[in-house]
Amino acid sequence: MSAPHVLIIGAGSTGSATAHDLALRGLRVTVVERGEIASGTTGRNHCLLHSGGRYCVNDQEGAIECIEENLILRRIMPHALEMNDGLFVALDDEDYAFKEKFLAGCAACHIPAREIPVQQALQIEPFLNPQIKAAVQVPDGVFEPWRFCTSFLATAKKNGATIRNFTQVNDLVFQGRAVAGAQVFDHRTGKTEIIGADLVVNATGAWAGMLAAMAKVDVPVAPTAGVMVAIGKRFNNMVVNRMHLPHDGDIVVPIRNTSIIGTTSWRVTKPDAIEIPQDQIDKMMQAGQLLMPILKAGVQRGVMAVARPLIASANVDARDFSRTFEAFNHRKQSGVAGLITISGGKTTTARGMAEKVSDVVCAELGVSAECKTKTTPLISYRDFYV
Ligand SMILES: Cc1cc2nc3c(=O)[nH]c(=O)nc-3n(C[C@H](O)[C@H](O)[C@H](O)COP(=O)(O)OP(=O)(O)OC[C@H]3O[C@@H](n4cnc5c(N)ncnc54)[C@H](O)[C@@H]3O)c2cc1C
Repeated sequence: MSAPHVLIIGAGSTGSATAHDLALRGLRVTVVERGEIASGTTGRNHCLLHSGGRYCVNDQEGAIECIEENLILRRIMPHALEMNDGLFVALDDEDYAFKEKFLAGCAACHIPAREIPVQQALQIEPFLNPQIKAAVQVPDGVFEPWRFCTSFLATAKKNGATIRNFTQVNDLVFQGRAVAGAQVFDHRTGKTEIIGADLVVNATGAWAGMLAAMAKVDVPVAPTAGVMVAIGKRFNNMVVNRMHLPHDGDIVVPIRNTSIIGTTSWRVTKPDAIEIPQDQIDKMMQAGQLLMPILKAGVQRGVMAVARPLIASANVDARDFSRTFEAFNHRKQSGVAGLITISGGKTTTARGMAEKVSDVVCAELGVSAECKTKTTPLISYRDFYV
């Protein structure tokens, strides 16, 4: 008897990591993605391999997930990462007063953090604001989003998965009330077809609510946008963060030859049509220049905005939604079998998200197979097209 077939919708970091996990457990896997790999939120995010430092005071669950996954990714996909560390710097007395809370938060979340002398920080990062009052080094890093996803997908393909980009789900198909596959449109051939499946995983990120609506079920996903401004020159070696609770424009991530300032946070209803207000761009530039005055001299190379698929909490401001993740089994929640949604989290925690949803998938299909992704090195992204 052949293994059960799982259809994964979406090839961002979450769907890609899930394809790898399930293929490694011996399931038959097909991934469909309406655009190119990583063309959703994953391909346009800040590319920070989180140490968890940004969340260690106000969202310790999210921070612990980040540091655990950060350390795993360093082992399984070094070819997709720049392991350059990060600095949290205090710019004023308020930041300085936050330092003890920050260090205690790092300790509580097991984030290796060490304070370094200001002079040393300025030697490592000569373009930092020379007025900084303290600096703490943490194991932040930078990932390359397309390589991140294709490393997972190349390995999934090697283990038998089928990956179909430019293939959009326009509807779900049902047997009775249960989801039994999807109707897809192939943008390259112009053909519509049905892909049957024993189970469908909704890994469509900020679009998860729209996909779930095809099965007439709800998921509490709150698309939460953020703006980033790319400066066309790299001014920092490490990631530079401001030492305070996450706020607008308080981080500069060096990606290849650019410096990306980010980010803001507000709720949106249509992830495909996010307008970028000029005042948000101005805010990024002003706040970024406080950290690194040289950014003023840099040329703006681009401005982008994408939406986080965060899990909404009642009466909580979008900036304060937890960065943790959840798998929603719609059979248990709404009586619609055959569909599971995975949402929330971050690209940094994609492997952990995949483990969680794959455990739910296997339990639902009666498959007994352990997760092996923590210790299985991924093959190179270069093998994706082999
Ligand atoms: C401004 C900003 C900055 C961020 N910075 C970071 C960071 O520095 N580090 C970090 O770890 N995380 C960061 N994140 C979070 C991270 O980007 C997201 O958590 C992550 O990319 C979500 O991945 P995903 O695979 O769930 O969603 P996506 O990457 O959006 O993937 C979902 C995919 O589903 C596809 N899809 C949708 N509908 C359909 C359909 N009907 N048929 C077929 N395919 C469909 C989409 O095209 C898309 O490619 C940031 C988020 C934002 C908004």
